Amino acid sequence: MARIVVVGAGAVAQVTVCKLARRPDLFPEIVVASRTFSKCQRLAERYPQARIIPEALDADNTAATVALLRKYKPELLLNLALPYQDLPLMDACLEAGVHYLDTASYEPPETPLYEYRYQWAYHERYAQAGLMAVLGIGFDPGVTNAFVAYAAKHLFDEIHYLDIVDCNAGSHGRPFATNFNLEINLREITQPGRYYEDGRLVEVPPLSISQEVRFPEIGVRKAYLIFHEELESLVKHFPTIRRARFWMTFSESYLMHLKAFMNVGLTRIDPIDYEGHPVVPIKFLQKLLPDPASLAPDYKGWVSIGVQLRGIYQGKPRTAYIYTNIRHEWAYQDCGSQAIAYTAGVPPAIAAELMISGLWKRPGVWNVEQLPPEPLLERLPAAGLPWKVVVDYPLDFIDVPE
Ligand code: NDP
Repeated sequence: MARIVVVGAGAVAQVTVCKLARRPDLFPEIVVASRTFSKCQRLAERYPQARIIPEALDADNTAATVALLRKYKPELLLNLALPYQDLPLMDACLEAGVHYLDTASYEPPETPLYEYRYQWAYHERYAQAGLMAVLGIGFDPGVTNAFVAYAAKHLFDEIHYLDIVDCNAGSHGRPFATNFNLEINLREITQPGRYYEDGRLVEVPPLSISQEVRFPEIGVRKAYLIFHEELESLVKHFPTIRRARFWMTFSESYLMHLKAFMNVGLTRIDPIDYEGHPVVPIKFLQKLLPDPASLAPDYKGWVSIGVQLRGIYQGKPRTAYIYTNIRHEWAYQDCGSQAIAYTAGVPPAIAAELMISGLWKRPGVWNVEQLPPEPLLERLPAAGLPWKVVVDYPLDFIDVPE
């Protein structure tokens, strides 16, 4: 039994709290601390059977977080705010002696470039303090890393090619919306595409490479190469991987809107002067568009996220596809959420259980693939995220020269 602190009360945090609130045996007291107090309060009201304590917190302020942690003395802090808060929250956890997890790697506000080096630099300090930090435990990154670790352990002698494939085939009925925080989402998509090949990071213009990918239950969809942070840790921890790429599908309408926003400068992250006031266009755009959590009641259709792998097993070539398919309606029924927030919000709740129960207990800073994948993967189906392994799957889209 452990007291925990959840930082953030947005689309992803709402799902994690929904799951944590069902386990008073493990989490008798959950402090939900975020910038907007009323959102924390609403969560406390939604789950009266759990003991949820709402708190206002500016997580950029390390001293304020340390004071909160000293007040409640939790075992673990779940960072479900934004990537900008990763470092101040890691500092606060070190100072207050609290374990840490998050769902997205740090990126500096002024540079849209995810890199793990900022957080990996904390490894020695966490190890010496006897504290554990788990990085990127959402779905992608998170479960996708565990899928690769599982494949490396049980299905392959060597993995050579990795393609992470992510398709949201659902429809929310709005002209344009993002499925998680707009600023973070558009920064990710509008930066150059990057992938790893033969030990090099290859950079291409944004959304300039696409392929047709066949998704279970959905069919063939056009997917675009974008950079995603788990590529960096996976090629480091599985050095037999010769090429690692990430693919995401977008509808024509989504791309048409996105291009228009880019063309007129609405995705800019630098402040512009508007009648004497500094305005950051992407933050302004976020105010105009739907809150991702609000899409949930109308969202219908499938989401499919998985890893497609090629390598060798017992001297012979082998392929495998490990994936999760869920419907937006199921996520709504379970937690009142849409499926993207759901896929991201369920894994941190499982990770919290593993960390406080000691099943994941290792001082230092870790990516998910460095931890035993089985305890996480075993718990996913009952938590609402079924997954499937298909060996010798016909990976028809992968252009591998073998
Ligand atoms: P939202 O914008 O819906 O929620 C973010 C929450 O963090 C909000 O409640 C916000 O407060 C709060 N917050 C922001 N800044 C601060 C601050 N300085 N101090 C305290 N609280 C703050 O985002 P999502 O829920 O969609 O995304 C949350 C995280 O999950 C992001 O980092 C995102 O990258 C990650 N993610 C990970 C995925 C994965 O599979 N690994 C997939 C999807 C998302 P307020 O309500 O006041 O705005």
